[in-house]
Amino acid sequence: MTLACPAAAVAALVDALDDGVGTLASYPDAAPGRWRIEAILPCAPQRVAIETRLALIAAALGIDPPPLTIEPLADVDWLARNRASFPPIAVGPFVVHGEGGSATGRIPIRIDAATAFGTGEHATTRGCLLALAVAVRHRRIARALDVGTGSGVLAIAAARLCRARVLAVDIDPESVMVARRHVRVNGVADLVRVARSDGYRAALVARGAPYDLVLANILARPLAAMALDLARVLARGGVAILSGLLIEQEPWVLWPQRAQGLALARRWRIDGWSTLLLTRRAPNR
Ligand code: SAH
Repeated sequence: MTLACPAAAVAALVDALDDGVGTLASYPDAAPGRWRIEAILPCAPQRVAIETRLALIAAALGIDPPPLTIEPLADVDWLARNRASFPPIAVGPFVVHGEGGSATGRIPIRIDAATAFGTGEHATTRGCLLALAVAVRHRRIARALDVGTGSGVLAIAAARLCRARVLAVDIDPESVMVARRHVRVNGVADLVRVARSDGYRAALVARGAPYDLVLANILARPLAAMALDLARVLARGGVAILSGLLIEQEPWVLWPQRAQGLALARRWRIDGWSTLLLTRRAPNR
């Protein structure tokens, strides 16, 4: 359902059209002062009822009733379309690609457009991949933990880059399924195990400790709250990569990690997001 109207009428018309079942969007039209309102509905709307509503509002606003277009929307498999248009993304030594494509000279990670976060496109994922490449330079990583694995991208990258055994966890069961599939299609099922866990809570997480590397791309608040959990499972001389925080949240996330004996080694700031590389001071607490 589409209609054009003057800018001043947008709010009132959107209110009148929004019945809570569809998706509504409004944006400025090419013509100055004109806006378009678009609604996508799960079934054909009642034209007469809507036109009556529009006419009433138009009269109250003193404008002409906006002409209404209603047309069926072709059934599109958006995931499939997204998959087809997913360009390979080169990040440090990696290239994250969708079905089909890859690039030579880099470590390929195949991630299909799916219902889990982590296609390599987001600044936080890119920050983590760049940090990972640096983190493995001067240390041997035999065991790694990926908290909030999403698509599994970071766990797969760690397995590929250093042949580490990785435990990847996510609070969301859908992400766990998607990550498992990606682990399989990337041929690292012998190295990566995926499980459901709220943060570090699952017994499996403690059982696999200590980890030489912990990756956590979540959000500032849980990162700050989980500082003690991280310190408990991180090996002496181990390294942690934290992301999902905004630049201005750095002090807030760093403080509790420092209190647990971790030190900031390096940070990446991309598009307003920050990725922190932290090392654990020896001796172990
Ligand atoms: N690691 C991927 C995905 C990051 S998105 C990447 O770097 O691209 C953040 C993920 O963390 C989501 O999949 C979300 O489900 C998960 N998550 C959020 N809170 C969590 C928690 N408390 N414990 C475990 N996973 C969590």
